[in-house]
Amino acid sequence: MRAWSRAARIRGHRIGFVPTMGFLHEGHLRLIDRAKERADRVVLSIFVNPLQFGPREDFAGYPRDLQRDRSLAKERYVDCLFVPASDAMYPMEPLVRVNAGPMADTLEGAARPGHFVGVLTVVAKLLHMVEPDVAVFGRKDFQQAMLVRRMVADLDFACDVEIAPTVRELDGLALSSRNVYLKGDDRRAALALSRALRAVEQAWRGGEADARALERRGMETLKTPGVTPEYLALVDAQIRPVARADAKTVVVVAAKVGGTRLIDNVVLGEGIAIDVSVQTTAKD
Ligand code: AMP
Repeated sequence: MRAWSRAARIRGHRIGFVPTMGFLHEGHLRLIDRAKERADRVVLSIFVNPLQFGPREDFAGYPRDLQRDRSLAKERYVDCLFVPASDAMYPMEPLVRVNAGPMADTLEGAARPGHFVGVLTVVAKLLHMVEPDVAVFGRKDFQQAMLVRRMVADLDFACDVEIAPTVRELDGLALSSRNVYLKGDDRRAALALSRALRAVEQAWRGGEADARALERRGMETLKTPGVTPEYLALVDAQIRPVARADAKTVVVVAAKVGGTRLIDNVVLGEGIAIDVSVQTTAKD
């Protein structure tokens, strides 16, 4: 992988990189488009990283379809598809890992102990292998994107981090590889997340700035049959709770729908309307 990147760089090409766990959807594909805009050559990696899954999480059942991913990557003009085998990534258990620090203590980090250590460790490894000029991440995973940005700054990685908007279905559901698990009633119930974000956004635009009042408003909307709320919180870019909401405040939400854990977020000043909406086929 590194030889490919170095050869491309010698030819004067800027390299863009999109790390994923595969089972590609339009959200991933827009990251590729963004990387294309920022670079001359694009590397897409697919690696379901065991390090970031807890013992009771869905590592074994995580959706995989490499054949389909290959053709989607080709259609989107990916220059290099990097699909490392598990034993190439981890020939031995990594004893040294990236400490994700206090930004990883709350929200996703609290719900999934060790998750962000696993994420940052694999992202650090991939950045060393690909040596990109720019790496593109989705806003959909807000806490992850902020942590990656911070790791790159704190540990002097030589690449830019670009964060692309969330891609949604026309009805508001944020695209996720895990949406494939949502059938029938669960698919409808899953709309509670984006509805709750929109309710908070509307209340804020209506003049409410007290973060706790806004969180209560969001929770009321989130609590619907079939949905088990985990958290709904107003935070800043350092993932700290805010007391008063402003345009930069991010509303983050997590809930279980059936057996599927979903997350979503909105930046209040931008609103859900700024996100990209796409019509996907039934299979997506
Ligand atoms: P994953 O394969 O789920 O690990 O995601 C790989 C990358 O795609 C991450 O940077 C995610 O934030 C991003 N991503 C996933 N879903 C979306 C979405 N709906 N919109 C934008 N980016 C996304």
